[in-house]
Order: sequence, then structure tokens, then C-alpha cells
Amino acid sequence: MTEKTSDYIIPDNVSRTIGRDAQRNNIMAAKIVADIVKTTLGPKGMDKMLVDSTGNVIVTNDGVTILEEMEIEHPAAKMMVDIAKTQELEVGDGTTSAVLIAGKLLENAETLLDKKIHPTIIIKGYEKASKKALEILSEISIPIKERSILKKIAMTAMTGKGAEGNREKLSEIIVEAVSQISDNTINSSDIKIEKVKGNSVVDSELIKGIVLDKERANQEMPSRIEKAKILLIDFPIEFKGPESETRISVSSPEQLQSFIKSEEMQLKMIVEKIIGTGARVVFCQKGIDDVAQYYFAKAGIMACRRIPKSDMERLSKATSGKIISSQEDLSDKILGSAELVEEIKENDTNLIYVKGCVNPKAVSIIIRGGTSHVLDEIERAIKDGLGDVISAIKSGRIVAGGGAVEIEISRRIRSFAKTIEGREQLAIEQFALALESIPETLAENAGLDPIDIMTELKKRHESGLINDGLNLLNGQIEDSFLSGIIEPIKVKQQAITSASEVAMMILRIDDVLISKGKGQGFNPSLGSEYE
Ligand code: ADP
Ligand code: MG
Repeated sequence: MTEKTSDYIIPDNVSRTIGRDAQRNNIMAAKIVADIVKTTLGPKGMDKMLVDSTGNVIVTNDGVTILEEMEIEHPAAKMMVDIAKTQELEVGDGTTSAVLIAGKLLENAETLLDKKIHPTIIIKGYEKASKKALEILSEISIPIKERSILKKIAMTAMTGKGAEGNREKLSEIIVEAVSQISDNTINSSDIKIEKVKGNSVVDSELIKGIVLDKERANQEMPSRIEKAKILLIDFPIEFKGPESETRISVSSPEQLQSFIKSEEMQLKMIVEKIIGTGARVVFCQKGIDDVAQYYFAKAGIMACRRIPKSDMERLSKATSGKIISSQEDLSDKILGSAELVEEIKENDTNLIYVKGCVNPKAVSIIIRGGTSHVLDEIERAIKDGLGDVISAIKSGRIVAGGGAVEIEISRRIRSFAKTIEGREQLAIEQFALALESIPETLAENAGLDPIDIMTELKKRHESGLINDGLNLLNGQIEDSFLSGIIEPIKVKQQAITSASEVAMMILRIDDVLISKGKGQGFNPSLGSEYE
């Protein structure tokens, strides 16, 4: 079918590309996306400066951040951006690698398409190869034997991320934060990151509790409470009257007066009940009425209102207090506790520290730094580190970084290819080749000669040194486990899985229909736009 025949049945404002053209376009778009992030890979990768339409500037080395900010429109390119997002969601690190591998898988598929190998054969080959890759990955991964490994994992994740000078200190904070929670159900949201402008990155710290970007409801309340009993509630401590839907009919000023009085009485009762629990600090997810604030202040209680739900949950995990939804549940049994609750003003922002919690299951990392650009980039680095350390604890297995693991998988897939008959073998070989793009790019970005490096790496792996990788801190090829360049197995599993899935998905497409919206009557072909 040609484009001409389709003109009979599809409207003018839908553009259509089919067959080889559609594939070529999609592969081109995917390659462009991979090329964009390529130079940021690894410790010697460069940063990108992105300026949005309102003039906001972001300086980053983080693959997913770059792609998210770029507002990419091409459908196949968007699928590539989605791999980065999945990777970020599942592990929090490895986004650039995942996108690079996907781009390479498609680029290599193109050479096979040019040789008239049918996409379904390539897809079959890629499917077998990716399954094999995951098996090999498990085989060559090793268990974590000592805790010191965790710090190395965090250091590896943060290399080249703007956190450079403070990697050591930040890695310690990360490992301490994760160890504090040390629970199999640990989630990165249990570790709150709060950015505070001012001072320098070395002043960043771990708080065994929660830091809230809030101030107390009323200045008359105490700003510091030691050995605090803490109450967490998610219902409002307010008059229901004017805001609620219920209608009341009052016919005289006296009636209104008595209505208000009775509401006030009810509120007072709740407040007295709260005071009766022995709580000295109240965190409320909703509002707190002025009258209630007055009573709290008078009773020497510190109260904060409109605390986000996520923070309420963290407060509960940190202080072991229970969040209650009804006043019937008020009692001294549900209170949480902390060594100290204190409001501190730091460079124009008020923060409430809830710290010194006993055995907290949620903690906070305070990042300090001079500018918001620094803070944001350090935050991204810390998130990568946290993601990797958490995933290492969960799976308990690690692999050698610096390209070592990719070279080894590639090598073994190549020998696996030899066992497969027919043209699928060619696709499996291309899959193996695609994995080599990681060490190759690491070398290239560091200004080393990729051909020399690849030859040497392959030679060593052939001779059985399966953990040898590139150490870009000294430019040598050495055992990556020994040089401390270590990654959790999950980063690689996820990258291989999502990269091959998206590559196969894009290869399956041979018809692209794009609606250009109503009434434009304009039918640009994708080809002219992107080729
Ligand atoms: P990603 O978004 O894929 O995580 P990064 O820019 O974080 O991209 O780079 C990760 C790659 O850098 C991994 O392959 C990792 O093994 C490698 N790497 C980290 N530290 C070093 C190092 N010191 N020497 C060589 N490679 C390193
Ligand atoms: Mg990384």
C-alpha cells in the first residue's frame, strides 16, 4: 500500500508514514534521544544547561532530568524518554545507560534492516539475547559480604554528579540513613530530603527524625520542646459552620449567638481532650482555628497546621505515633515521641526539626549549599545514591561497574549467538555489540581512545578477568570490585530489560498515523520533519 491509497480513507489532518520509512524515522528519533544524553555518561561526563521558556535554568548531568525537561514530541522519542522514567522510578539510577543501550539496539537493528532482514527476526533475536543477558547478569553478580560495600555503591552512583568534592561525606549520610531504617520494606520516600540554602555542602546532615518546611501556627506557642510527646491528627481543629455544606437557619441574633457559642464549646472540648492526652506537640494535616491556637498556646503546646499527608506519614514512622482521624481515638497511647521538637530560622526559612527519635523508620537528609542550582543537582545525586543503596540491600547482589559487567555479558552473549541457527544469530550478535556502547562511551567521554580501551578490556575478559573495568579516577583498567566501582544488580537488570523492550516495541511499528488536530488541513509527513 502506498501513501496515495491511504488518502482515500484517512482525513487530511492525519499524516501517515508506513513501512521502511516509518521504521527509519522512529529509529532516527530514538538515536537522537540517545545522542543527547550520551555525553553525560560516567564520571567524566559533561553537564547540560537547560533553559525553559520562562528563563529558568537547570544545570544537570542526570539523564532523566534532561529528557523530561526537553519536552520531546516525536512519538518514538517519547517512548525512549519513558525508559528513562521507568528506570528512575524502579531504581533511581542508570537512566543514561538504559537510553544509550536502547538507542544502540535500534541503530544496530537498522544495519540488519538494510540487509533486508525482517524486523520480526530481529525482534526474536533481541528477545533471546535479552533473556540470556539477564541470566548471565545473575551468574556474574556476587553477594554483598560487608557493609563497607554500601558506601562504595553510593560513591559510584554520585561520581561526576556535581557532588564531587563531598562524595565521601554524602555517601556516609546515605548509608547511615538507609541503615537506620534497615527494613526490607524500605522505600526511598522514607528518607526525606530537605534543601536549605546557605552554608556549604559539607554542612549537610542526617536528622534522626523529620524536618518540616513549616512554622508553628502561632507565635505565642513555644518554639522548643524537649522530650516531646507528639500528636498526629488528620482532621481539622476548626469550626465546622461557615465552611461546611450544612445549612443552619437562625431567626434571631440570639440564636446565632448561641449557635456560635455551642460550636466554640465543641471546639474547646476537643482542645481540652487533646491537652488531656499529655501531648506537647500537635501536627495537624488540616487547619487549626484561631481560638484553638489560643488555647494551645495557653497550655504551652506547639501546634502546626496543614502538614502534607506524605510528611504526616513520615512523622508517624519516625516518632512511632499513630495518625488519628477522629477525636474518639484521642488518648495517650497513640502519641509519638522525639527528644526535641524545635523551630529554627535558617537564612529566611523556618524549619521545624523533629529529632532524636528512638528507632525511627523515616529520617531526613538536610542538604545545604550556596545556590538552588547546587542544591538541586546534589539532591539528584543523593537520590541516585539512595536508590542504588536501597536496591543493593533489597537484592543483596552487586556487579562490577566501569563497563566491566557490560563487556562480560557482551562476550558471553556472543558465544551464545554461535549456538543459534539462522539469521537470528545476527541479531543476537548486534545485541552483544550494543552493550559495548557503555564502556566505549565511558572511555570516549573521558577523552581516552575507545579502540585501545575496548581491545584491552576484551583481551582481559577473554583471559578470565571478568571484573576488569575502566577506572576513570586514575584512567587504568583494573578489577572494578577492587577499585570500588560497584553497582547493584537491579540497575543493570532494569536497564537491559527496558532498553530491549522499547527497542523491540519500536521495531514492531510499521505504520505511523499522526493526527494534527482539527481543521488544519495540513499534512506534513513525519519524514520531512525529522530526516
Ligand atoms: P547513569 O544515568 O546510567 O547512571 P552515570 O552518568 O551515572 O549514568 O554513569 C554510570 C556509569 O558510570 C556506570 O556504568 C558506572 O559503572 C560508571 N562509573 C561510575 N564511576 C566510575 C569510575 N570511577 N570509573 C569508571 N566508570 C565509573
Ligand atoms: Mg548514575
